[in-house]
Amino acid sequence: MRRAVVLILDGLRRDFVTPELMPHLASFRSTATWFDGHRSVFPSVTRCVSACFATGCLPARHGLQANTMVLQEPHGQVLHDAGEPGFLDHRRRVTGRSLDVPTLAERLAGQGGSVIMGNVSPGATYAHDPDRFGFLHHRVGSFAPGGEALSDGFDSLRPDLAGDAAMVDRFITEVLFGRQPALAQLWTAEPDHAQHMMELGSPAHLALLRRVDAHAGLVIEAVERLRAAGEDVLLLIGSDHGHQTVDGVVDVAAELAAVLPEAAEAVTVAANGTAALVYVDPARPDLIAGLRAALPQAAWVDRVVGPDGLAEVGHSTANGLAFLIGMRSSEETNAHGVPGLSLVAKPHVGKADRLGFGQHGGVGRWEQSPVLLVQGDGFAAGSVRQEPTSVIDAAPTILRHLGMPADGMDGRALQAG
Ligand SMILES: [Zn+2]
Repeated sequence: MRRAVVLILDGLRRDFVTPELMPHLASFRSTATWFDGHRSVFPSVTRCVSACFATGCLPARHGLQANTMVLQEPHGQVLHDAGEPGFLDHRRRVTGRSLDVPTLAERLAGQGGSVIMGNVSPGATYAHDPDRFGFLHHRVGSFAPGGEALSDGFDSLRPDLAGDAAMVDRFITEVLFGRQPALAQLWTAEPDHAQHMMELGSPAHLALLRRVDAHAGLVIEAVERLRAAGEDVLLLIGSDHGHQTVDGVVDVAAELAAVLPEAAEAVTVAANGTAALVYVDPARPDLIAGLRAALPQAAWVDRVVGPDGLAEVGHSTANGLAFLIGMRSSEETNAHGVPGLSLVAKPHVGKADRLGFGQHGGVGRWEQSPVLLVQGDGFAAGSVRQEPTSVIDAAPTILRHLGMPADGMDGRALQAG
């Protein structure tokens, strides 16, 4: 039987995969293909990337624009946290669709099925299967195909290393060796969760990476045993984005109000770590010219994409999205010699990021350097591929391995030949 096994180590930077820090992953490189030009999407945030991963499509097609995003609702523009468990149900009520294109879970229903475990936000995990075609396991709520609630004990897990460890154990024993779906997927909380609260390259961070690597080692070893038993497994291990070190916080809404006072009531800024999305009330298109003139002048931006350029970065003007901002980044090093510093956008609610800790969302070099390693039919052992690849390429690659069409996807299957 042909099966796909996916392990996503949230937030793992490519340059941290070294024999010293992550020996299991480094050793896995010699038996898999390493994608050296792999990139996240923009914004490089987990909920958006999860929808890209699940659908093989860019945000313009699936509709989940960012971690924090605006929905155009009947009474106006409303800012939402897409990490909330009910976000995609709410989007279905407002727009008629949870996501606008089918997920892997939907495509695999009746074709061997899927079991998806996630230890990140509920919204990110549910984006893999918002309409409950397969099995979905998360601490906030787990579901069987059709949406029946499951009591699986995952509600006691935390989004940390211990929670990941418990999930890895159950993934291997219950899913890989027990239920054996066509797609078995585990998306861990670490190293992302802790990187937001520590300095990249610090002793605590290096210890964290070793623990994350040990989790990967367990899955790699389990898949070797499946293959020894005759299974034809595609094993994809990767991450959704990397991290930069925060070197400043910018209140983007206040900055815009300072240069364009009339923007205050008709412009909504959705902060997404080292990115920000600027939404303009459709009744006030006159504001766009002012923003287009002001934004590129700001000292705190790396990249500003306006309404005319959104399609080029995989977005549309849905919900009144007008500008996508990558906050200023540099390749300078932090206190531990780790390169990649970025400004962050001050969040709408909650505390601003701590200076010196990890964050992501923008187009900085290191947040755009996620990991992709693929082992199995069509992937030469020990090879390094340099061409640009994207998180949207995972879904078509998985479907090709399973002998299924990947019609209607923006990504492409990565098998050689
Ligand atoms: Zn993430």
